[in-house]
Amino acid sequence: MEMPSWRDTDTKRGSMARGALWLVQEIGINGIFTKSDVREAFPEVSQIDRRLRDLRDYGWQIDTHREDPELKQDEQRLVQVGAEVWVPGQAKAKPKTSVTAAQRKKVMEADGWLCRSCGLAGGDIYDDGATAQLDIARRNVLLPDGTEEVQLSTECKKCRVGGRGSVVDLGEILRLVELLGPLEKTIFGGWLSADERRLSGMERLWGLYRAMPADSRAAVRRAVLGDDELGVRV
Ligand SMILES: [Zn+2]
Repeated sequence: MEMPSWRDTDTKRGSMARGALWLVQEIGINGIFTKSDVREAFPEVSQIDRRLRDLRDYGWQIDTHREDPELKQDEQRLVQVGAEVWVPGQAKAKPKTSVTAAQRKKVMEADGWLCRSCGLAGGDIYDDGATAQLDIARRNVLLPDGTEEVQLSTECKKCRVGGRGSVVDLGEILRLVELLGPLEKTIFGGWLSADERRLSGMERLWGLYRAMPADSRAAVRRAVLGDDELGVRV
């Protein structure tokens, strides 16, 4: 179905749907708009701001200066387009409610109370001296069957803003996992269990080996490669 124009004042289409079309067609992803832009576009709709806020219940992400420090007080940014509420039936579908306190806690608990992008915890200090604050980000995930769904992730406010619009390609990751050899899969599995990439015995050995004098390195090489390989520089 072709996307209708936001200027089309078809009475069957509600003001939230028209506002959504306006955002997509006039503002675009990462575009910034102000309340007066909205009122100018919809002079006949009272409370159009509120209708646009309602879009958040349908997976739309519209940030204010509270979520995105780069924005001025009167600016908002369209970060993510959610359900196509202008398609008949879509707006009536049970809306994805905003994140509740219980959901927030559950997501953060599952994420170990760490930003999944940079690994900082709430209250940690960034390089620039600012304090990290954890928040919940909605991430578009491309599922192996090609459909997209929104999943929640713990991120600090900086990473949440930086990662806007990005899509997690779960199918691609699963394909890459399939390509791992058995030994790689075991090592990778160990990292997953620990939720941490620990230095493997091999990496520790390599660090020690590299720093050794040549005669000692030769002894290690002999132990690993055998006498025949000794003359070959790797
Ligand atoms: Zn972060």
